[in-house]
Amino acid sequence: MEHLTVTAAQQCVLESIELPGTESVRLEQSLGRVLAEDVRANRDQPPYDVSAMDGFALRSADVASAPAVLAIIEDIRAGDMPSKTVQAGQCARIMTGAPVPQGADAVIRVEDTQAVSDTQVQINVTVKANNDVRPRGEGMQNGEVVLASGTEITPGAVGMLAMVKRANVQVYRQPTVAILSTGDELEGLNDPFDANKIPDANSYALMAQVQALGIQPELLGIARDDPDHLKAMLQRGLQYDVLLVSGGTSVGVHDYVRPTLKALGVQMKFWRVEMKPGHPMAFGVAPLTSVFGLPGNPVSSMVCFEEFVLPALRRMSGCTRVHRRTITARLTHDVKHKHSRTEFVRVMLSREEGGYAATSTGAQGSGILASMSRAEGLMVVPAQSKGMAAGDQVTVQLLDGAEYQNEAGGDF
Ligand code: AMP
Ligand code: MG
Repeated sequence: MEHLTVTAAQQCVLESIELPGTESVRLEQSLGRVLAEDVRANRDQPPYDVSAMDGFALRSADVASAPAVLAIIEDIRAGDMPSKTVQAGQCARIMTGAPVPQGADAVIRVEDTQAVSDTQVQINVTVKANNDVRPRGEGMQNGEVVLASGTEITPGAVGMLAMVKRANVQVYRQPTVAILSTGDELEGLNDPFDANKIPDANSYALMAQVQALGIQPELLGIARDDPDHLKAMLQRGLQYDVLLVSGGTSVGVHDYVRPTLKALGVQMKFWRVEMKPGHPMAFGVAPLTSVFGLPGNPVSSMVCFEEFVLPALRRMSGCTRVHRRTITARLTHDVKHKHSRTEFVRVMLSREEGGYAATSTGAQGSGILASMSRAEGLMVVPAQSKGMAAGDQVTVQLLDGAEYQNEAGGDF
């Protein structure tokens, strides 16, 4: 099996996966899901021309030579319907959101008026027709598609769905995900402490990466480096839409993952990707399941998740934008690069004049998880690069949490 570039491997994964179908969810549970239907407005909103201000509805011609005193014929509150037509020399007291009465063509805010008596008001300024009137259907028009199929449901979209009275919406089903760690040296989170063992970090780091996508994965535990035990555990994993296995994919004599997957009928699509970290990455498909054989080193496993599993899970969840957002940043130091593999350097980001500065999180060994736990982004060093220098503009893939900063920002 050939070694693939990162791009070719990503393509292979995305071409191999299938969407798991759709389901109906309650609006309260819909945040982060992806619409599997076009949602249409079922009314005009607002349903009639309404006032944008607390003030007076009047005929703009009446105040052409303001100040002018007008007779108040009624009070109209939001939710009321006007009962009278505004005639020349008249106005109606009106509240924000209340319907503009017949005869009136503009609203003047209360701040630009002066009370004369309970039944009269002086208007101090002139207004144009339609001033502070929100026209019928400004927000949405009956029958129009307000949210298209494929839209990710944000808080704003939840508001819109409530606006069109959708208590239930049709969304893409989320994939089911199982996570399996492998290795005799591993100590489970709840196992007794043994200083000679390696704590199983991958199960939980991968779990969290999946959770960050809004999916609750199943942790299958640790498979021993024993073909029978591994086989039984992998068989359980093949009941899910996606199986993530970490460790045991390399060329060691106890690396049984790939042969065991093959024996279970998984069609292996690729093994080894020209990247650092993450070289011994494998991918295969079974009738129900996409199987990712992730490297055992914790940083490699997390970076491979970012590059291959994340786009796959997002695509399976119905998203059209499947890759992490990238930004351009100024590198603050040199980065050596000798080999011909794409490198993902874990970086922190800081705001600076004109953009962002990217700085390595420190020692980048693939077993040094601190390099990942501090990271806000993965800086991409292209395979063909001969190294990068301080001051270079570099591409950084944003990681979870990178969308927040200390300062409020913006010119307020
Ligand atoms: P392997 O790919 O199985 O040869 O593992 C490569 C390295 O990653 C070894 O040093 C393992 O101890 C380590 N490793 C494998 N699985 C895990 C895990 N679940 N958590 C932490 N380290 C791991
Ligand atoms: Mg191992």
